[in-house]
Amino acid sequence: MRFLVTGTAGFIGFHLAHRLLGAGHEVVGVDGLTDYYDVALKRARLARLEALPGFASHEFLLEEPGAFMTLMGEARPDVVVHLAAQAGVRYSLEHPEAYVAGNVVGTFQVLEGCRAHPVRHLLFASTSSAYGGNPTVPFRETDRAVWPLTIYAASKLAGEAMAHSYAHLWKIPTTAFRFFTVYGPWGRPDMALFLFTRKILAAEPIEVYDHGRAVRDFTYIDDLVESIGRLIDLPPPPPGAAPVSPADTLSPVAPFRMVNIGGGRPVSVAAMLDALEAALGVRAVRHLRDLPPGDVERTEASPDLLRDLVGYVPSTPLEVGIPAFVAWYRAHYGAGC
Ligand code: NAD
Repeated sequence: MRFLVTGTAGFIGFHLAHRLLGAGHEVVGVDGLTDYYDVALKRARLARLEALPGFASHEFLLEEPGAFMTLMGEARPDVVVHLAAQAGVRYSLEHPEAYVAGNVVGTFQVLEGCRAHPVRHLLFASTSSAYGGNPTVPFRETDRAVWPLTIYAASKLAGEAMAHSYAHLWKIPTTAFRFFTVYGPWGRPDMALFLFTRKILAAEPIEVYDHGRAVRDFTYIDDLVESIGRLIDLPPPPPGAAPVSPADTLSPVAPFRMVNIGGGRPVSVAAMLDALEAALGVRAVRHLRDLPPGDVERTEASPDLLRDLVGYVPSTPLEVGIPAFVAWYRAHYGAGC
C-alpha cells in the first residue's frame, strides 16, 4: 500500500514510517522541518528513512495553500497518517499562532486533500491534553467533553472536530488517536525525559514541576507504533463507529473513531526520574517547582477500547524503556555524554 505520512522528520512519524517501510509499503513523507527543536535531529531521522527503499520525502508547511492538495494529486495514497503538528503544551502559552497555523489550518489542508482525493482511511494524531482537567480517571474516549486548558489542546480538539465533520460529510473513514506522553529513542528534545537526561549529564540542575508529584501515562514508542500499525490493519470505521457504551455522550455519527493509545499504568515524574538516574548512574540535582499553568496533575488512559479493537495495549515498563532511550542518547550524542 502507499501511505502518505505527515511529520516524518518528527519523533513518531519517523518511527511509524520506518515500520511501514520495513513491512514493504511505500511511504510519501511530508515535513516542514520547523525549528521548534533541533533541526539537525530531524534531518538525521530523515536521512535514516531516505536510505530505505520506498521512501519519498517532501518539505513544506501544511498550511501553505495548495501544497498538500498538489501532493495528494500526485501521490494518490491509499492511507494518510497525519502526525505533523506544532506540539508542546508550555510553548503554546508563548506562541499560540504556531498552533493555529500548523494544527488548525494545517489539518484543514489535510482534510481538504482527503476530500478531493479520497483515501481508504485517514488517521490523525490528537493528544491526552484534549481531556483537559478531566476529573475522572482513567480517561475514556466516551467521557463527557471538557473545555481545553491550553491552545495546544484547543488546536487538537479543533482538529478532531473538523475531522469528524469531514468524515460525516465526505465519508472519509477516520481514526483519531489520543497519545499519552510518548518516549523512547529518537525522542523529542523538548520533553522531560530528554531535557532531564541532557541536564543531568551536563551536571546542571533540573526543574521538576509539581514537586515531582505529577503523574503521566508514559508510553514507549515501540508500543505506540505497534498500536498504530494494528489500527491501520483494521477495517476503517463504519458510519456511527465505536466508541459506544452506556455512558457514551460522544457517539460519532460519521465513519469516525477516537482511540486512546496509552497503557493505563501511570507513573509519577519523581518515579520516572528515579528510573532515569538508575539508567544513567548519576543523581540529579532536583529543583522542585509548582505545576505551571496549563499543565495537568494526572493523565491516565483507559486502554479498554484499544484492547477491544486490536487485542493489544502498551506495556513496556519504564525500567526497560528508559535504558533503551539512554543507550540511544549516548550513541547519538557521543560516548562522552
Ligand atoms: P515532533 O515535533 O517530533 O514531530 C512533528 C513533526 O511535524 C516535526 O518534524 C515538525 O517539523 C513537523 N511539523 C510541525 N508543524 C508542521 C507544519 N505546519 N507543516 C509541516 N510539518 C510540520 O512531534 P511528535 O512527538 O512526533 O508528535 C507527533 C504527533 O503526535 C503530533 O501531532 C503531536 O501533537 C502528537 N502527540 C505527541 C505526543 C508525544 O508524547 N510525543 C503526545 C500526544 C500527542
